[in-house]
Amino acid sequence: MKPMTVDLRGQTALVTGAGRGIGRAISASLAAAGARVYLAARTAEQLQSVAEQISRSGGNSVPIPTDLASEEQIQALFGKIHSQEAGLDILINNAGVGIYGPAVDFTSTDFDTVMRVNAKAAFLCCQQALKLMIPKKRGYIINISSVLGFKGYANQAAYTASKHALVGLTKSLAAEVQEQGIRVSVILPGGVNTRMIADARPDLDPEILLQPEDIAHTVMFLLSLSDLAAVDQIYIRRRSSKPF
Ligand code: NAP
Repeated sequence: MKPMTVDLRGQTALVTGAGRGIGRAISASLAAAGARVYLAARTAEQLQSVAEQISRSGGNSVPIPTDLASEEQIQALFGKIHSQEAGLDILINNAGVGIYGPAVDFTSTDFDTVMRVNAKAAFLCCQQALKLMIPKKRGYIINISSVLGFKGYANQAAYTASKHALVGLTKSLAAEVQEQGIRVSVILPGGVNTRMIADARPDLDPEILLQPEDIAHTVMFLLSLSDLAAVDQIYIRRRSSKPF
């Protein structure tokens, strides 16, 4: 059996929501392990900043500003990857938005926005990635859900539904493509010290939260396992929260 090291030289990865927070940390880790990392999010300046950080560390990345709420832009993103690469080895579906409020007043537009970015875009990216992975009979898709992929908090109905959807998407795809050499896992983090949680839970002390690097390390752990291992899901919570 191969030793548990992560050598991604020669591999290509795509990270959505790569411009800040968890996606930025995952992108840096993948690039440090030698992968060429495609970086997708809407804010071009943030992607550029991540690409410069990766480049300064000797890594390789390609920023592609993309609004994942747009199916056309997702197709264009994969068209660019396909034109430059022989395939795609790793997809990290990390992009996400949180819009919160009592269900009784929640607008249908906000519900659609949350579902489109958090769930539908992940499905469409999986679909496009599988077209590149299936012919090679290898690949790894990791979806970033949330503790709200199995719990439910008040005033977060749309976000919770979208994160449950990601878990369902993972379960179905994992069964569907396993025989084709492709693994699909989901990570369910509790509170992570990023802009998203600063907006959603300003009451939480950033000092007690998970760090984005904790999630990046979890991704690298999954990628370190041998081809014989498959992990369906990992729940990682801040130590100051209640177990289960
Ligand atoms: P963040 O700092 O707000 O980063 C979110 C990323 O998603 C940004 O790069 C953002 O870039 C991108 N994004 C949002 N809407 C997009 C769109 N329409 N098209 C393309 N990219 C889009 O949040 P984070 O905490 O790192 O969250 C990353 C993931 O972890 C999310 O899926 C989130 O639900 C999940 N998560 C977070 C926590 C937490 O406590 N922070 C806990 C569990 C799970 P642009 O705005 O530039 O597009």
